[in-house]
Amino acid sequence: MAPRKLIAGNWKMNLLKAEGEALVRALGASLASEPKPACDVLVCPPFTLLGALAPLCGEAGLALGAQDCHAAPSGAFTGNVAAPMLADAGCAYVIVGHSERRSLHGEDNATVKAKAEAALAAGLVAIVCVGETEAERDSGKAEEIVVAQLLQSLPEGASAGSLVVAYEPVWAIGTGRTPTVAQVADMHAALRKALGGAVADAAAVRILYGGSVKPGNAAELLAVANVDGALVGGASLSHGDFWAICQSCG
Ligand code: PEP
Repeated sequence: MAPRKLIAGNWKMNLLKAEGEALVRALGASLASEPKPACDVLVCPPFTLLGALAPLCGEAGLALGAQDCHAAPSGAFTGNVAAPMLADAGCAYVIVGHSERRSLHGEDNATVKAKAEAALAAGLVAIVCVGETEAERDSGKAEEIVVAQLLQSLPEGASAGSLVVAYEPVWAIGTGRTPTVAQVADMHAALRKALGGAVADAAAVRILYGGSVKPGNAAELLAVANVDGALVGGASLSHGDFWAICQSCG
């Protein structure tokens, strides 16, 4: 049986406290109404809002996640945030290896793996992001490249309860462009197969698609085999758009 879908909102470096609280309250009101969407819903606000939003998310029935963590549990790392701090703030999830971290902060697969292992050690679910650049897609080797990225980024000892994979083509993030349904199906099948050699319960690991998911394309993307949810950037900042994507799960 396919895993229950997960719709995750990555707020990136957006929203102040009052805006974040209003969005969580609006999502909570929607989640309390009928019919319920066939998915779990997660929001990943900036670090500064985690403490304030944790109790509101609990009331709203939303899971809370962070957008990054450091690989060390504590120490002299000015400006960083450790995975146990995120758990302490009420997070259940943390995104690691987002393409903006990989490209803007020079994070490689080894760094992402270390961060994912830190997340697991703190009891968090690691959302490990992978995806090809446009040049890699054009080279015809996207699947090979993304599978290698995944295998090198996977934390040791992961299982479906501690790992989510997000396939996010770099060229689709924030651009309004998406791969074809066939390209998404092929990539997710390749990722599922690769997980089979690395994780005992690979069939139960959620593999999200991310990159310009909007209300207008969500139903089509979420219906693709092995797509177990979505990681949503821009559209997660609008209650109407994010909720419409959640409802696209059925
Ligand atoms: C993202 O950054 O994870 C993302 C998917 O962004 P967007 O939905 O805006 O393309």
